[in-house]
Amino acid sequence: MAVRDPMDVATLKRLHSRIRACTKCVAAGYLAQAVPVVAGRITDRVMIVGQAPGIVELTTRMPFSGRAGAELRRWLARAGISEEQLAYRTSITKCFPGKAPTGAGDRRPSPAEIALCAPWLEAELACVRPEIILLVGALAIARLWGPGALGEVVGRSRRSPELNDALLIPLPHPSGASRWLNDDANRGRLHRALRLLGRAWQALPSLDAAGKVHSRR
Ligand code: SF4
Repeated sequence: MAVRDPMDVATLKRLHSRIRACTKCVAAGYLAQAVPVVAGRITDRVMIVGQAPGIVELTTRMPFSGRAGAELRRWLARAGISEEQLAYRTSITKCFPGKAPTGAGDRRPSPAEIALCAPWLEAELACVRPEIILLVGALAIARLWGPGALGEVVGRSRRSPELNDALLIPLPHPSGASRWLNDDANRGRLHRALRLLGRAWQALPSLDAAGKVHSRR
């Protein structure tokens, strides 16, 4: 990771202000209300990309602050990442999309909403330049990993030359609405993914206060 320019801090702050003021999906008629949610620092070395905020985040305005977020934090703890080391947290679309018409979980954002929101994620990735990117759920996996069923990609990792060689690690969505983890084989895949994350986290070179790289040895 390169030494971060103080200008980057100002750039990210400006980007967050622009994201939080965004109402593109309201103007386009896809949402009745826009409450964009994003959080993180320029120094965050892990970025978590989820699907979209849930109803709890509508009030807290903090990503992953609902039940799914609590489960995700338990997963991160299994990988050795604690609450205070929590990563940059964002999503494919940044506003609560409403409940699914079936009543099971939240509505999946439409391709049109995803396209409207995509420039924000691209700007965040370019500004923060994370070293590890956790792809939480099918939408984030499809966007940054490419096509592949959850069972084919969870438990694997790969570097992305388009994203400064960041290590991509797919995870299932931690929402209770997902039945994917009811299967033993899938729980094994999640276990492998968290082991990969733990190893990648441990392998990150340590940085001093100025952001300079030091060997952990
Ligand atoms: S989902 Fe994204 S593009 Fe749509 S209003 Fe919210 S921040 Fe803007």
